[in-house]
Amino acid sequence: MVINVIDIMQSASGEIAKEFEYNASNDLIVSLPEGEFASPVKVKAVLWMDGKNVLADISLFYTLSSACSRCLERATCEVEHNYFAKYSLCPEDGEYLYKSGKVDLTQSVNEEIVLTQPTVIYCKPDCKGLCPVCGANLNKGDCGHNIE
Ligand SMILES: [Zn+2]
Ligand SMILES: [Zn+2]
Repeated sequence: MVINVIDIMQSASGEIAKEFEYNASNDLIVSLPEGEFASPVKVKAVLWMDGKNVLADISLFYTLSSACSRCLERATCEVEHNYFAKYSLCPEDGEYLYKSGKVDLTQSVNEEIVLTQPTVIYCKPDCKGLCPVCGANLNKGDCGHNIE
């Protein structure tokens, strides 16, 4: 996800818009068991110059798949997230380095994926989970154990 800074400088409107499909590593999914990306991460970025810095307004869209946190059936969850990043030749806290006239979005996208992913996923909002007595999936019927 590399953008040439010269393209931003030469843009008539002063900004450029870029879209990427990013095959993010499943290693980025830190808290969902057997979690994986169900499809490539969609990244949309609008970039413009602020002096020598590059400012970026970035939107992420991704779908995670993992075991349902209640019943362990397969479940998916969509995440949409918008953030702002600053790319500098001498980055300060919270900023990103760019060099050789190129901005690479990968590091900030990876960090935002880690920050925004859910810690639990449900196969449906009212998932009934597993019976604590026999382990039956209570979405598929009542096993007869009375749970208070
Ligand atoms: Zn479930
Ligand atoms: Zn039961």
